[in-house]
Order: sequence, then structure tokens, then C-alpha cells
Amino acid sequence: MSAEKIRLEGDRLVVPDHVCIPYIQGDGVGVDITPAMLRVVDAAVSKAYGGGRSIEWLELLAGEKAKERTGEYLPGETIEAIREHVVAIKGPLTTPVGGGIRSLNVALRQILDLYSCVRPVRWYGQGAPIKRPELVDYVIWRENTDDVYIGIEWPAGSPEARKLISFLRDEMGVPEGKLPDDASVGIKPASEKKSKRHIRKALRWALENGRRTATLMHKGNIQKFTEGYFVRWGYEVAAEPEFAGLVITEEELGERYAGDMEKAKADGYKLLLNDRIADNMFQQLLTRTGEYDVIIAMNLNGDYISDAAAGLVGGLGLAPGANIGDGYAVFEATHGTAPKHAGKDEVNPGSLILSAAFMLDYLGWKEAASLIEEGLRRTLADRIGTYDLVREWKKEGIEGKKVSCSGFAKAIVEHM
Ligand code: NAD
Repeated sequence: MSAEKIRLEGDRLVVPDHVCIPYIQGDGVGVDITPAMLRVVDAAVSKAYGGGRSIEWLELLAGEKAKERTGEYLPGETIEAIREHVVAIKGPLTTPVGGGIRSLNVALRQILDLYSCVRPVRWYGQGAPIKRPELVDYVIWRENTDDVYIGIEWPAGSPEARKLISFLRDEMGVPEGKLPDDASVGIKPASEKKSKRHIRKALRWALENGRRTATLMHKGNIQKFTEGYFVRWGYEVAAEPEFAGLVITEEELGERYAGDMEKAKADGYKLLLNDRIADNMFQQLLTRTGEYDVIIAMNLNGDYISDAAAGLVGGLGLAPGANIGDGYAVFEATHGTAPKHAGKDEVNPGSLILSAAFMLDYLGWKEAASLIEEGLRRTLADRIGTYDLVREWKKEGIEGKKVSCSGFAKAIVEHM
């Protein structure tokens, strides 16, 4: 059966049963974790669909491998191929030092306009610092293209900083005490269009995936017109016709159902939308761990909360991720290239394997995605893991069985 490409109809994916999916091996430990991921995905797809569905993998070049073969870190053909195939998966890429592209990951996100960074955080049985890690089941949606990350800033004392400071003081009435001469200055844009497309996508995803709550995380009490407007736009999106009768705000829930979501569900509502101030949220992830579900944030807050949430269940080793735009999506390991471990077949391939499971889920191949998650869960329940997992279990007085990177992939397949 010859494989076909995924197509986009509007921003809806059309996924053929025999599909061609591009992958980028990645630098450093990419050489170890990518083959492990491919093996697990192939086994899951074959077990779930017995030949009724399959993936033909297409390797694309990026990073050091691309530089060696083509002279470029991110060849135009790679970008074009991802655009053509709509969905891809990648290992970690080294950020080239000096000259050219600042970061290949950032470049990929910008070129393909992958405006939401999505990080599911769940516990699979790894060593974790909190008492009840089984309560963690978050999906964090971090905006990728707005906020202080766009890098409009000038160093203290530079002519640009001085010019901007003078303008703000002289023309905009900002007092000198707030903006002294020796300040570095940066700009934090929060744009309506960028915020709304991100929030809309997150709410759609939450509804399609049967989630119960979505929380807008913000610092709108202080940054009223950036973070505060992010929240306001969030509620405006929730009031759009496509969400009518499906998404209910906390305020409406209080007024109409005395805060009882079960009663609202009887009237057809599916998702509760609320908002929380960022600092409080960090505290509550620890004190009210099970209360959060889908978290929707601007860029900087999303960055912080993604890693903090992953930390609750033992760190980035088993944290998947994806960058998603209008249909286009690139799934990736959340850790870097860990160069000192490269080629030694010893690191944990779990982050990339779970990213692949998330990708299968995104394609609607939910049975294969579940098989991978279940295989991983059972492998960890048998206390089989790579060195990092075994090391963390040891801290809890648990003796694990250490396996290699490829050995871990094999164990997951055997435990499916
Ligand atoms: P890193 O994630 O590569 O390593 C940090 C630590 O985590 C290391 O001690 C490493 O031993 C450990 N580690 C990482 N992945 C592991 C795994 N799968 N199993 C077990 N242990 C693991 O971060 P770094 O050292 O800061 O960055 C190295 C390179 O990776 C840099 O060039 C950086 O730019 C790049 N990077 C790329 C991405 C990406 O492609 N998405 C993300 C982060 C960093």
C-alpha cells in the first residue's frame, strides 16, 4: 500500500490510513532517541490496526547532519517538506553558535507560524517530588509568537534606549522616577489576533478531547493592558458562537448553577473556563494539584509553568511537546541534545516517544497513542528504566532495573 500525505481542508486534517510522516533525527542524542521512537510507534500502529493503518517515515535533514551534507543547518527543502506533509516530528537540535540562524527551533516555529506550544504533563510512574503525582494531568498551551519573547529591547545606556526613554518621558508623560536614564528597556506586546487564535485553538482542543476545565493564566492584576487583555480576549473568544452552550465561564456557572458543573453539564455545557493569577497558580499546582487541567498562557508565563509542571512529575525526561499552528504541527522532545550522552545508547527516549504518542492522538489515531502510553506505564510499573529513571527511583528507596535507550524502547513494545 503506497503511503499518502496528510492534507489540510481549512485547518482540518485529512489523514490517510497509510500515511507518510517526515522526521528529523536531531543532533546529539537524536541518534539514540529517534530510532527508539520510530520502533515504538511502528509497533503501536501495527498492534492497534494490524496493517489497516501504517506510517512510512521520511527523513528530513536539519541541524549538524544537514550542515555536513548540504552546507546549511536548515535547508529550504526541509521546511518545504514539512509544509507539504503538514505534520512532522523532530529530535533536539543544537543551537548553532555564531552567525546565521539564531535557533533552528525558533526558525521552524516562525517560518511555519506554529503559534502554540503544547505540553501535556502526566505521571507514568517515574520518581516524582510531590506526594500525589497521579493527580497531575495538565495540558499547557503556551503562546509562541507574542510577549517579551519577540526580543524588542535595548541595553541601558544605548542610543536607542535613551531615545525611547526620552520619548516616553517627554511625549507620553512617564515620570523620571519610573523610567530613569540608566534603564534597559524592552517592549511587551500582547496582540488581540495572536492571543485569540491561540486561545481559540486551545479551547477547541479541550472540547475535542473531553477536558473539564481550561484556565487562563495571567498577571493581569499588574500588567493590565497586556496580560489583562489576554484574559479579556480569552472570555471574548469563549463567547463566540462556536462555543455557545459548550463553554461556561466561572462567573456564569456561579450565577446560573450555584457553581455546580454537574448541573451545567446536564444542560449540555462541557468545559469550564476560568482564570487565575500566575503567582497563585504556581502555588496551587502544589497545594491543589488535581484542580488544574488545560492551562492557557501567554509566552513567558507558559514557559515558566511548562517546566514547573513537568518538574512536579520528575522533570523533562518524560515530557512531550508540540508546536502547533493552523493545522501544521511539529512534535518534539522537550529536552536538548545532551551532547555528552550522544551515541552511547543510554539516555531516556521517553520524551520523544510520548511526543510521538501525542502526534498519533493529534492525527486521530487514539488507539495507537493509548498503546504507547500504556506500554510506558507498565514498563515503569515493572521498574524498568534508563539511568535517569533508575536514579530517581533510588531516591525513593526503589530498586530499578537499568536498561539502555534501545532496551527501554524494546521494553515498552513488550509491555504494550
Ligand atoms: P539538555 O536538555 O540537552 O541537557 C540538560 C541535562 O539533561 C543534561 O545533564 C542531560 O544529561 C540531561 N538530559 C537531557 N535529555 C536527556 C534524556 N533524554 N535522558 C536523560 N537525560 C537527559 O540541555 P542543554 O545541555 O542546556 O542543551 C544542549 C543543546 O541542546 C544546546 O545546543 C541547546 O541549544 C539545545 N537544545 C535544544 C532543544 C530543542 O531542540 N528543542 C531544547 C533545549 C536545548
